[in-house]
Amino acid sequence: MNLPSSLKKTAETNADKTAYIFMDQLVTYKELDTAVSKFADGLKKLGLKKGDHMALLLGNSPQFIIALYGAMRAGVTTIPVNPIYTPEEIRYILDNGDVKAVVALDLFVPYVDKIDALLPKVEHYIICETDPAKVGKYAHPKLKSFSQILAESSPFVEEVPLSEEDTAVILYTSGTTGKPKGAMLTHKNLYSNASDIGSYLKMSADDRVITALPMFHVFCLSVAVNAPLISGATLLILPKFSPKEVFRVAKQYKATIFAGVPTMYNYLFQYEGGDPKDFATLRLCISGGASMPVALLKNFEKKFNVLISEGYGLSEASPVTCFNPLDRPRKPGSIGANIVHVENKVVDELGNEVPVGEVGELVVRGPNVMKGYYKMPEETAAAIRNGWLHTGDMARMDEDGYFYIVDRKKDMVIVGGFNVYPREVEEVLYDHPDVVEAAAVGIPDPNQGEVVKVYVVSKNKNLTEQALLDYCKERLAKYKVPKEIEFLDELPKNTTGKILRRSLKEQLQKQSARP
Ligand code: AMP
Repeated sequence: MNLPSSLKKTAETNADKTAYIFMDQLVTYKELDTAVSKFADGLKKLGLKKGDHMALLLGNSPQFIIALYGAMRAGVTTIPVNPIYTPEEIRYILDNGDVKAVVALDLFVPYVDKIDALLPKVEHYIICETDPAKVGKYAHPKLKSFSQILAESSPFVEEVPLSEEDTAVILYTSGTTGKPKGAMLTHKNLYSNASDIGSYLKMSADDRVITALPMFHVFCLSVAVNAPLISGATLLILPKFSPKEVFRVAKQYKATIFAGVPTMYNYLFQYEGGDPKDFATLRLCISGGASMPVALLKNFEKKFNVLISEGYGLSEASPVTCFNPLDRPRKPGSIGANIVHVENKVVDELGNEVPVGEVGELVVRGPNVMKGYYKMPEETAAAIRNGWLHTGDMARMDEDGYFYIVDRKKDMVIVGGFNVYPREVEEVLYDHPDVVEAAAVGIPDPNQGEVVKVYVVSKNKNLTEQALLDYCKERLAKYKVPKEIEFLDELPKNTTGKILRRSLKEQLQKQSARP
């Protein structure tokens, strides 16, 4: 089984079931599957063959799903790219990824000559038009219309045989240093993780899942697109996250599941128009992508009377490795236990498992672990050692087999020889009633080597640095207490909503480099 064949099966057994609702338009599984086959046929007619690469530069939309599943059905590998990356980031990925076709919005059209000169390997730009009057009216020979391709193709496309080990998608992940690396995920990786997470979270055809995370990110792709489609559920697709729209669709379409990163839960919690009654049908909120502050989890659950289950994953693992179970106790602050078929363990520098409760690096093994990084054998060998994917995250496991992420290995701050994980400082700050967002980083210190600096968004303009310091002193060991506190209006985040400690550090470095 793979994702496109699973879709075909649902379209046969449950043809009239609504697959997704987008901008209040309902589309059935049969209609979605037909569009997917037509797109696969269209790619074949353009000359794309099994193993060729296609980039997807789209926001959340039906075209994203049609192109992704159509490419898989045609044996073409998809590279989803964040459409708001800088031109240089996009150029790097399309070039490194040996892309032959690009699917993009019509915003792309005026720049095609310039882009084409930089990317000679690209043969086709497939444009999703926002203005129907402009469909297909292009002078440039490489420009094709998405809707025209669908209109002119046949849904009876000949199946391309797919093997489990064929690469279905390549996800470029930035890591903490160097150029982005393309994690190659196979059909087996994607299908197994989506079906395992779907069954672990008991997704069914009765579920209506709010798809508000960006689809180009693996968390959304697996948990809020592929898993619900395997389960025959209905996706409630939002073009982008907005608290107002989340409450609206939750109420109007009786949503049962919401998936988001912690900052989304924070925005929903703070949103003044958020009526808990709108969430009356929600049975489960899924959190992942970054650590969920325990105070936020508890406040959110109390306000909206819905369970938040936190899980953990990374692009290289398609992505989910752990989740809090639904049929056993859920532990706030924990990323949960092994999902079915996946093993996690905590190891020391030599790769030996550490005793229960001790901190080490989290490593992962299972059918979800990537084949490797595209054209980067050395990076692949460094990441996957003795069959275990090294996550770069520090964690501990309790006696019940639940894991706790302590922090990124690279974000650890060493204060006078003692390790401080930014997360433990942030958890204390999030517990403060005035703190909306917090991030802790290490800054150089002539005596201690490094000390902790925190950035805080407060909803109380009268909250002073001293008051917050006193609060931290009562709750943290002396060496963990921040030496500096800076109040900001907001914290930098990536498009998935993860707080970017790295850009705060870069800002600091720039400031200190100034004469
Ligand atoms: P990405 O490859 O973009 O999905 O990012 C993966 C990284 O996100 C992981 O290596 C972790 O550092 C972080 N992450 C994901 N889920 C969690 C979580 N529940 N708690 C803490 N960190 C997380």
